[in-house]
Amino acid sequence: MTSANEVAGRVQRTCRLDEGSSRLRYVTGKRGEALRRLGLLQVRDVLYHLPSRYLDFTRVVAIGYCEVGADATIVGRVDKVELKRPKPRLQLVEVAVVDDTGVLFATFFRQPWIAEQLHPGDLVALSGKVTFSYGFKRMTPTFHEVLGTDEAASYARILPVYPVGEGVSVPWMRRIISAALCDVGDVCDVVPASIVAGRSLMSLGRALREVHFPTSLVAAEEARRRLAYDELLLLQLMLLARQRIELAGSEPVEHVTDGNHLHALVSALPFKLSQEQEVALGEVLADMAAPRVMNRLLLGDVGTGKTVVAAAAIAAVADTGTQAAMMAPTSVLARQYAEGVGPLLDAAGIPWALLTGATPTAERTSVLQMLAAGELCCIFGTTALLTEDVEFPRLSLVVIDEQHRFGVNQRVSLRRKGAGADMLSMSATPIPRTLALSLYGDMSCSRIRHRPVAGAGVTTKVLAPENSDLAYGAIRDAVAAGHQAYVICPLVDERDDGSDLDDVPERSQAQSRRLHAATSTREELARGPLRGLRLDLLTGRMSADEKDAAMTRFRARETDVLVATTVVEVGVDVPNATVMLVLDADRFGLATLHQLRGRVGRGKDAGMVYLSCAAGPRSPARKRLAALEATSDGFELAELDLSLRREGEVLGYRQHGGVVLKVCDLSSDKDLVEAAHADADVLARIDPELRAPVHAALALECRQRYRAYFEEVERA
Ligand code: ADP
Ligand code: MG
Repeated sequence: MTSANEVAGRVQRTCRLDEGSSRLRYVTGKRGEALRRLGLLQVRDVLYHLPSRYLDFTRVVAIGYCEVGADATIVGRVDKVELKRPKPRLQLVEVAVVDDTGVLFATFFRQPWIAEQLHPGDLVALSGKVTFSYGFKRMTPTFHEVLGTDEAASYARILPVYPVGEGVSVPWMRRIISAALCDVGDVCDVVPASIVAGRSLMSLGRALREVHFPTSLVAAEEARRRLAYDELLLLQLMLLARQRIELAGSEPVEHVTDGNHLHALVSALPFKLSQEQEVALGEVLADMAAPRVMNRLLLGDVGTGKTVVAAAAIAAVADTGTQAAMMAPTSVLARQYAEGVGPLLDAAGIPWALLTGATPTAERTSVLQMLAAGELCCIFGTTALLTEDVEFPRLSLVVIDEQHRFGVNQRVSLRRKGAGADMLSMSATPIPRTLALSLYGDMSCSRIRHRPVAGAGVTTKVLAPENSDLAYGAIRDAVAAGHQAYVICPLVDERDDGSDLDDVPERSQAQSRRLHAATSTREELARGPLRGLRLDLLTGRMSADEKDAAMTRFRARETDVLVATTVVEVGVDVPNATVMLVLDADRFGLATLHQLRGRVGRGKDAGMVYLSCAAGPRSPARKRLAALEATSDGFELAELDLSLRREGEVLGYRQHGGVVLKVCDLSSDKDLVEAAHADADVLARIDPELRAPVHAALALECRQRYRAYFEEVERA
């Protein structure tokens, strides 16, 4: 029997998930500070701080028996530690480790501090690939750890290895997490039992224990998947809840979708809509006609004809007697709508205007007046549309192009200008289905996969910088034939630190190599390989006016070669441009490069894209770029990009306050994404506000976990 004292002690120790992490055993003031630096503020955060890998003592191999050429984990005593300096600038630490069956030399390059960490007599675990040279087994460990008495006692077990920071060691993290699991007791499941059973998921309490201190690696993976499911389901519920907050009290508009303006616009088109455009437009119009608020995402590569679909939707707005707003991330793009869609609206008798930051004050005032008086049916613009004095008496459709470039608050504040307005988001970034489902699970999705008129197409070629002459020759030939070209650089100028660049695997090597900056590259090219050609500059750091002027000159063929950053990625449409050279191409994500190359070969002349990359022919960077040579399918590339980088980075989403998944791995957890999406749909139908007692825990957990995302919408 347990004594009353013991029970009382245990009750006192029991802690809740939302208590501060300093409440945990072994967490003293300094360590509490270290935990906070890792972002582990609450007990919950500590429990959800998952291992990055495991140390599998059940599979430790004796040194004498480990196979040369294979990965192994060994455990032995340190016999000797030597700091060596074989070359003036190379330091390495060589450690001799022995067990009952032999000796192995572990070499640590460029980590001289390891000589201080390891001492003769220490019991250590090492993992890595075993090699053999100069008569000994050797290893360059990918992981090493000095084992204390606790760990040594846990032989034949699987120990977690955590991502840690200053002031926190892996063994210490193990100790507090182990104590926390014990003090928290059995964590109640937040997901309804019917779903847990239906999806054959591990219980939450067990998953938390197994993910930290697994009984087997199989159990650890099952536990991770359970936590990933929770993450995805809660994300879906958050997106749905957030949308409900956004739309609270608004009245959906039931649009007229077979009126005269729409017919007039369609018959004014100089072409027939493609099959895919017809389908997408049908889906958009059905949503618009329905008595609920549309939230649809239209996906398709640049040039697949999304804008025309949007134009038709705007015509339906005209037939309904309401108003539409179409917002683009740049003034260049907003102007292109005005030039491309404007004439179609004119032909259908639909009054429209353009509003950007560059619109002169007098014109702006008159546009705003006409808009407020309901005399304008459609307005194209940039974030200039978001200012308070832009008022719509009856805004019923919001079109947002390149939607991922806008923040949630920008999207919400445009939508707020018309309570219950339908929303059509468009994106040329080919988002894989899993990513769309998880990050945009609250939106319905239409896709256009093929261009209505296949342009002459693009050939992509990766080349080493020393072969750049090939590209410069092609540029000269193109210009001689009356065409134009782009040279793309990762940086704007010398002040640019590259922090806006895509987060590609090569990022860590950034410091070792100077990247091309547009401003200096333009000067070098003008003096060197492209002497005599008319060069111009386009970067994100130029003012809107300067950018517009540069684009206008390029479009008017006053410029032969535009030296630019990725600002040209979005929607710049100059069919006469046929050659593109991307410098330091390995510093761009595949999705970005795919977008970039879509700028050429759009017309009747074939395009040629050169990707310059300094990395060796067999490097991972070159392999990544080779995918672009091999396929022109944007969705295929996006899937590949996703498997190489974390999902948030594929979209440059991080900068936009997007959701980053911590546990789920979208490329291997596809089935979970589908399952969570389907389950959230069912929940939203049977209990949209999650008020039923069985759903209370779910609602609370969702709110706590994604607190910041709720606040973002409530603030807007
Ligand atoms: P996106 O907005 O997807 O980049 P756009 O709508 O701007 O694409 O269309 C790209 C080009 O293709 C435009 O010049 C447009 O006029 C043309 N286009 C669109 N749909 C068709 C079609 N069905 N047949 C022929 N040309 C089309
Ligand atoms: Mg477009």
